[in-house]
Amino acid sequence: MIIVGLTGGIGSGKTTVAKMFSALGVPVYIADDEAKKLMRTSKVIKRKLIALFGENVYVNGDLNKPFIANIIFNNEQVLQEMNAIVHPRVASHFEKWANKQTSAYVIKEVAILFENGGHKACDYVIAVTAPKQLRIERLLVRDNSSEEKIEAIMKNQWTDAEKVKLSQFVIENVDIEKTRNQVTAVHAEILKKLSKS
Ligand code: ATP
Repeated sequence: MIIVGLTGGIGSGKTTVAKMFSALGVPVYIADDEAKKLMRTSKVIKRKLIALFGENVYVNGDLNKPFIANIIFNNEQVLQEMNAIVHPRVASHFEKWANKQTSAYVIKEVAILFENGGHKACDYVIAVTAPKQLRIERLLVRDNSSEEKIEAIMKNQWTDAEKVKLSQFVIENVDIEKTRNQVTAVHAEILKKLSKS
């Protein structure tokens, strides 16, 4: 299966763009959502997370996100241990999912694709970009978050320029209609590339 990674910084509009590909009939796997689902449903992951964080990691069967965020904030070691539990299982879940699809290609949306080296497993990568200030404004509205928190997350992500350098396609997501046109064009270009190879 041909895998097209879709990435971009927080608030760039990855999910918005992913939905547009989905509307064109491309199967989309949103890795963060699937990870959260697996953290709630996989017995192995649950057992290991409880061993790492303690029983408070779940409240009535639901993931206690503020509790986890509190611990992993500024604790790189625990974050890595959590990733070591979750990432391999998301990877195999994705592989099974991808192998079931019958489309020309699939999209895998991952926020920190380059940061984690996931781009190496992709045939192509699409980077979604938007000016930093615009991203902050969107997130202030969407998440009711603080500028400080958003900046802290951005600090751990690559810059747009770094991502663009390693991507085969770039979608600048400012005006929504222009974004839709770019998605249609990128989709056509990927199909063309695939028909040649
Ligand atoms: P995250 O990394 O936090 O998951 P994301 O990159 O997936 O974010 P989205 O959730 O798609 O970003 O977009 C962030 C917010 O900005 C959402 O509320 C979305 O509706 C809005 N948004 C995205 N693109 C546009 C656009 N072109 N014009 C106006 N609003 C937009």
